[in-house]
Parts: sequence; structure tokens; C-alpha cells
Amino acid sequence: METTPAIFQIAIDGPSGSGKSTMARRLAAALGIGYLDTGAMYRALGFAALRRGIRPSDPTDVEIMLQDVELDVSFADGCQQTLIDGEDVSPFIRTPDVSMAASDISALPAVRGFCVDKQRRIGETNAMVLDGRDIGTYVLPDADLKFFLTAGDDVRAGRRYLDLVKAGVSVDMNDVLHDLRVRDRQDSTRELAPTLAASDAILIDTSELSEDQVFDLMLRHCAARGLTRG
Ligand code: C5P
Repeated sequence: METTPAIFQIAIDGPSGSGKSTMARRLAAALGIGYLDTGAMYRALGFAALRRGIRPSDPTDVEIMLQDVELDVSFADGCQQTLIDGEDVSPFIRTPDVSMAASDISALPAVRGFCVDKQRRIGETNAMVLDGRDIGTYVLPDADLKFFLTAGDDVRAGRRYLDLVKAGVSVDMNDVLHDLRVRDRQDSTRELAPTLAASDAILIDTSELSEDQVFDLMLRHCAARGLTRG
């Protein structure tokens, strides 16, 4: 029987609303390891740009911002706090405006370098589940196990809509679907680190599966690779 390595990484990639963050959180809890939400880092930088009146797609202004902005993540009771200049901005980064700003800013090479360095530093030194768009292909190509989650547009938009409503954000379902499609197109067609399944990723279409079914399936793949609670 394989023994669980002391430090191992699980990459979960996929488009928005595919269930990555829910699964990453549950897997991390089940395996007793950390969870890094990499999207929160791009969201925090998108939010920082909007707050400073900078267009998130403007490479010059964003590069200037990167020279004096501090982005950190910290973990308390397994919960990630994403900090800009020492302030936890987690409560402000889930709105539709910030989602689009994150997608715009994350396409800039300087931003990717800035975030990926931090993600590798955190990911390589701790046992972790990381979720994002490019974890298995670019951030941690040697991750021990890689998943790529997908689901139909309407299913993903429905999940995103419910998340936003639960968080008290007033939105229209058609706007959510439209924004999700725009963001998907932008994230999957950009030159640098587009949303892509690694060739060795396990593909799971979550459209017709319950949350528990997806989780059980992923947990079984972990066990098959010898990745269990240490
Ligand atoms: O995953 P989430 O929806 O929070 O990500 C917000 C945005 O951040 C995505 O639309 C994508 O543009 C960007 N992102 C990325 N690479 C990652 C994670 C997120 O480009 N690893």
C-alpha cells in the first residue's frame, strides 16, 4: 500500500461555477491539509485597482500599482484571509464588478508573475489543495493529483447566482449568465496561462452530479493515489 507523502499538492482547475472551491474546501478538511483559493488573490488585486481608480486591464497603471501594493494571504481555522496592505479584503471581493476586474487584471503578465510566485511559495512548502485555472498546467505542474471540473453554462451560472443571492448581492440571473460567459471566454482564450485541463488531470463534469457525489468521487481518486489523512 502507498504511504501518504508528508507534503503533497492537489490541483483543482476549471471554469467559474464548476464547483472547484466547494470541493477544494471539503477535500482539504477531509485530508487535514490547507486550501489555497488562488482566485481570491486575483480578485483582491482587481479590487485594489478599482479602489484606486485604475483600469484593471491597463498594464502600465497596474504595474505601477504592483510596486507598492502588498498582497498576502493568511489562514485562521482553515479559512483564508486575503489581505491588501494589511487589510482583509475577503468581504469585498465576491461582487460581479470585482469578478470581471479579476479576470481583466489576471490576464496581465506582471500580475501573473506576482501571484504565481506567491502561490508556488505557499503550495510547495505545505500540504495543500489549490484551486484556480492554471494550477495543474502552470503553477504546480508536478502536483500529486490534478482535477479539472466542468459543468454546463446554465448550471454554473445557476450556482453562481445562488452564491451571490446567499451573500446578499442583488443580481439578475441573465446578467450572471452573460458575465460568466464573458469571463470564461476571456480566461480561456488569453495568451498566458489560460483555463486548461492538464493532460494528466482527471476530468469531472459536475452538471448532473450532486455535491456529495462529486466529493466522494474525488476522495476515491485521492485514496487510489495514496493521498489520505496523515
Ligand atoms: O476562481 P475565481 O472565480 O474566484 O477567479 C476569479 C478570476 O481570477 C478568474 O475569472 C480568472 O480570471 C482569475 N484566475 C486566474 N488564475 C487562477 C485563479 C483565478 O486567472 N489560478
